[in-house]
Amino acid sequence: MNLEKISNFYGRPVYYINKPIPLIGHIAFGIIDRGTNVLQVRPSSLCFHNCIFCSVDAGPSSKHREAEYIVNEEWLAEWAYEIANIKNDDIEVLIDGVGEPISHPNILKLISLIKKIKNVKTISIETHGGSLSLQLAKRLEKAGLNRINLSIDSTDPENAKKLTGTEWYNVNKILKTASEILKETSIDIILTPVVVPEINENDMDLIIEWAKDNKAGEKSNYPSGILIQKFEIHHFGRKPEKVKVWSWRKFYSWLKALQEKHNYRLIVKPEELGFKNSVKLEKPFHVNDIVKTIIIGKGWLKNEYLSTDENCSRIISIISKENLIIGSKVKTKIIRDKDNIYLGKLY
Ligand code: SF4
Repeated sequence: MNLEKISNFYGRPVYYINKPIPLIGHIAFGIIDRGTNVLQVRPSSLCFHNCIFCSVDAGPSSKHREAEYIVNEEWLAEWAYEIANIKNDDIEVLIDGVGEPISHPNILKLISLIKKIKNVKTISIETHGGSLSLQLAKRLEKAGLNRINLSIDSTDPENAKKLTGTEWYNVNKILKTASEILKETSIDIILTPVVVPEINENDMDLIIEWAKDNKAGEKSNYPSGILIQKFEIHHFGRKPEKVKVWSWRKFYSWLKALQEKHNYRLIVKPEELGFKNSVKLEKPFHVNDIVKTIIIGKGWLKNEYLSTDENCSRIISIISKENLIIGSKVKTKIIRDKDNIYLGKLY
């Protein structure tokens, strides 16, 4: 059950994840269930943007990644079907990831397969928009997509380039396309900017006005078309120089003032966006369990390996500086099990 290497991405091998590799257990690919009616489906870890604040260190200038993954769309839809059945609830599939999900070569087919799952009521996708076009949106609509969560962090072209870490990013073109998508398709758009203190906090005014003018979020019956996210430092994420991270108190008081200034909702509750608790998948393993695992390939980050348990039910990432042989069996002590995402070390 070795991983198949299919290409290289900025010097990193890209592996193809296919049957029988399990699709629960890893943050970079497969499916994440956090016990709500929203199922995160992650088809690709590749990203052609290079954001200076990227919390998952994606894109060409990644320093921590050792490998990238693309998942076979039929295998991914099969897993989504199984999990949707277990949840037995109306669910939203959010296609997201530690990269740009639109980079998946068969993203249209993946959406159309997920659309066939009976209790999937909504399909949404996250993107920074670099490859978005009206033509692509019409194909996404036909495949079954309902909403795009569009991360636009500035309407100023130079600042948008700086934030996405690319010279080619054209925010004016993306916003024009987004307006057309809202007018000419059934797809809704929600803007999901990240506010990076002193870099783009003043740019939020124009982003809010864009969401208001273009009626973002209305097709989804959301109280707002913009969900501003707070910049946070993550262990393997990127941090722009000299940026001071806001406290949550500062973030919410800033949001409140902005909300009043624009007379537009910016603070919304998860339930107003349709989030609710749902059946959570059982965890076969727990922290401190000792599990027999089989090494199936190099891991996502440095000093990591991918493994599965003997029943091939979960992916377990193993942190090890030792050179582990692919195919070998090792005993692994689980050190993380939250949300069925597993990390272990050799026992
Ligand atoms: S923030 Fe998103 S779009 Fe930007 S580099 Fe990271 S994964 Fe890519």
